[in-house]
Amino acid sequence: MPLLTAEKTLLQAIYDSSSVAIFLVDMTGHIVHANQRMADMFSCTMAQLIDSEYVSLVHPAEREAGRQKMLALMAQGIPSVNVERRYWRRDGSEFWGNLTGKALLDDAGKPVGLVGNIADIDQRKRAEWELEASQERFERLARTVPCVLYDYIIWPDGRRKFLYLNARCEEFFELAPEVILEDVNRFWNLVHPEDRQRLESEEERARRGSDLFAAEVRLTTPSGREKWIRLSSRANVLEPGESAVWSGFMLDITETKQLEVELRQLATTDALTGLSNRSHFLRQVEQEMGRFQRSPRSAGVLMLDLDYFKHINDTHGHATGDEVLRDFARRVKACLRSVDLFGRMGGEEFCILLPDTDLEGARVLGQRLCQEVAGTPAQVGDLAIPYTVSIGAAEFRPEDRHFEPILARADAALYQAKRYGRNQVAVL
Ligand code: GH3
Ligand code: MG
Ligand code: MG
Repeated sequence: MPLLTAEKTLLQAIYDSSSVAIFLVDMTGHIVHANQRMADMFSCTMAQLIDSEYVSLVHPAEREAGRQKMLALMAQGIPSVNVERRYWRRDGSEFWGNLTGKALLDDAGKPVGLVGNIADIDQRKRAEWELEASQERFERLARTVPCVLYDYIIWPDGRRKFLYLNARCEEFFELAPEVILEDVNRFWNLVHPEDRQRLESEEERARRGSDLFAAEVRLTTPSGREKWIRLSSRANVLEPGESAVWSGFMLDITETKQLEVELRQLATTDALTGLSNRSHFLRQVEQEMGRFQRSPRSAGVLMLDLDYFKHINDTHGHATGDEVLRDFARRVKACLRSVDLFGRMGGEEFCILLPDTDLEGARVLGQRLCQEVAGTPAQVGDLAIPYTVSIGAAEFRPEDRHFEPILARADAALYQAKRYGRNQVAVL
């Protein structure tokens, strides 16, 4: 093959196998040369390409702008162009291309046309959009979620740092994210001193043996507001051999915690008198029984029942009866020690557990309570209502495994106090 022919064949091969479409348009905007890649790119034949108008390849929506641009380019002698635009094929499909064009001049320097390259950038474009969309989605999410989102790193030498905090941070901690990102101690200093150690050990435990972290702690914000927050995160190892990044959220659970306290109160307290209710009193007594069995010592029990209470209700009404019950609870409580347990068993029946008190001690206290109650009537509005109480006393015995037999003895004694005329203590 003659050298010149071989060279031409080589150039043609390079020209056709290029990854970009290469073409030449004349001054009227018609394609006069194109490589095979261009025909492939536009899913057409070379014959369809040659002599067609270049702008017929541009997406109809951009076609007129493309035509103006090219004419201006050629008329004003603008040396080159580099644009991203939508192209389309005869079958109606479209793709994004990057056009780079350069004015083609004759030997006298007069423009005779334009050489262009089109690179198919459809995939890159779509990847860019997806990235943008996912970034926007994340930013919207991080802006909107009603919790603090965070990334937190703990290095092997114990240093730690927040790597990310969303804008909610400001609302939770009254500190801008940047402030805490810069100095993790700004966060730690907010944590209630009594909870700091617990949070530290929870963090240490999670770091050593698990990829899950959860804790609930109290915080005091810079303006002095007390809050409960729940932290929850999971470890990600982003690079092998690197320290894990803990990604998680913090929730404001102040209201839930308050509700919890109220519910616990409700579940353990008698609403009328504020004393322990029956079930809570019995639970407390069981604990006391456990202590009694581990180291036997004396403990007394008093069962109390108001006398002729039905009569009080019948005479003054149920609401006044309630006030008398309140008066009774308050006055008896004033006579007890802080270690004594006092509960309302139901109706107008009460029970007292007296640690470190023998039967005689219980009887003496019972007597004092009878005198206290009988000595002063309950003052309900303008009414002074005299009332009395009967009491049965018992004590723990070494053979007692449960509270029921002790309670039964106190009850039997109470029955006797009633029988002997009320307003007195009885011991079996
Ligand atoms: P005694 O114990 O001296 O034999 O006579 P009693 O009249 O107190 O006898 P009983 O135990 O049969 O009656 C207790 C009454 O207490 C009956 C009930 O209407 C009333 N009672 C129970 N719970 C409440 C309460 O929460 N409020 C009021 N006002 N009355 C209550
Ligand atoms: Mg009664
Ligand atoms: Mg009763």
